[in-house]
Amino acid sequence: MKEFKEKVIPVFIPFMGCPHKCVFCNQRKITGYSKEVDIDSVDSHILRSLSTIPAWVDRVEIAFYGGSFSCLPQALQERLLLVASKYVKMHGLWGIRLSTRPDCLSRSEIEFLKDSGVVTVEIGVQSLNDAVLSRSKRGHTVKDAIDAALRVKDAGLVLGLQIMVGLPGDTGNEFHYTVDLIADKIKPDFVRIYPLLVVRGSELADMYERGEYEPLTLDEAVSLSKYAYRRFQDAGIGVVRMGLQDIPTMRWGVDILGGPYHPSFGELVKSAAFYEQIIEELKGVNPAELSVVINPKDESILRGQHNLNLLRLKKKYPNIRLNVVKDEGIQRGKFIIHYKKVA
Ligand code: SF4
Repeated sequence: MKEFKEKVIPVFIPFMGCPHKCVFCNQRKITGYSKEVDIDSVDSHILRSLSTIPAWVDRVEIAFYGGSFSCLPQALQERLLLVASKYVKMHGLWGIRLSTRPDCLSRSEIEFLKDSGVVTVEIGVQSLNDAVLSRSKRGHTVKDAIDAALRVKDAGLVLGLQIMVGLPGDTGNEFHYTVDLIADKIKPDFVRIYPLLVVRGSELADMYERGEYEPLTLDEAVSLSKYAYRRFQDAGIGVVRMGLQDIPTMRWGVDILGGPYHPSFGELVKSAAFYEQIIEELKGVNPAELSVVINPKDESILRGQHNLNLLRLKKKYPNIRLNVVKDEGIQRGKFIIHYKKVA
């Protein structure tokens, strides 16, 4: 089956429209942009980016990220959408995507976005626990988030949700509850999972320095994200990103003060999920030989960093013969195992 190739032209609008400042956010650092965006620069940025889109891409969206688009003044939204939709029409692009907050998505706002060429809305829900939202100073409730998400779906738009791992006051149980509610009730088209990092300039950085916030360890964040990743996969919900994109302007110890940062965070999670799934499939079996059939593009994830998964399997089953079999016919993220039991 041909893999469908999508590309996004990101237009960053750092902090723009945000009626609150969440404790963990220093959006200017996270997006790597520090200037406010004006319409002319948006126009030239899109035009420049279009010339870099390879011919093999099937679908292109122009995406407004980094702020709360639908909370912007209506006139500014109109001007930004007009520029983007000009290029959508001119180049036959798929449409416009934007990220925003749940409390700026009334039914009439959603209709306006849809009429203006928006096809995908990503909502930062972060958590579905009111106490956690309040401690993070999100300024909206769980009900706001669920209602907004369902309205976006009702309008026939593609819905993406962003959640965070390690928010202040968010225990494992509460995080699992958030994930379960999304998987069972909201059922978005895709999700993004971000481990919470302590970014300089955020209120969280002050809390961290005063000893009032303790970040997750990398292992804890991977384990919680693995739960979410598997749960969403089982529910048929795409997980399009885990972990922040690598931003050259973010330096550990300078811009990021703490938290479970890893440049390949998503791969660590997928790798841990593969291992867990294999162990589940081998439950009650003492295997003498194990063959894992996998898409070649997933081989390094199956093996794990420094072959960690294979080493753990060998430790658990000391005499096992292990084979990794590559097969392009296997769907990405899936595998098949064959084993022979100890005689
Ligand atoms: S709503 Fe988003 S962009 Fe705005 S302050 Fe909160 S996290 Fe940052």
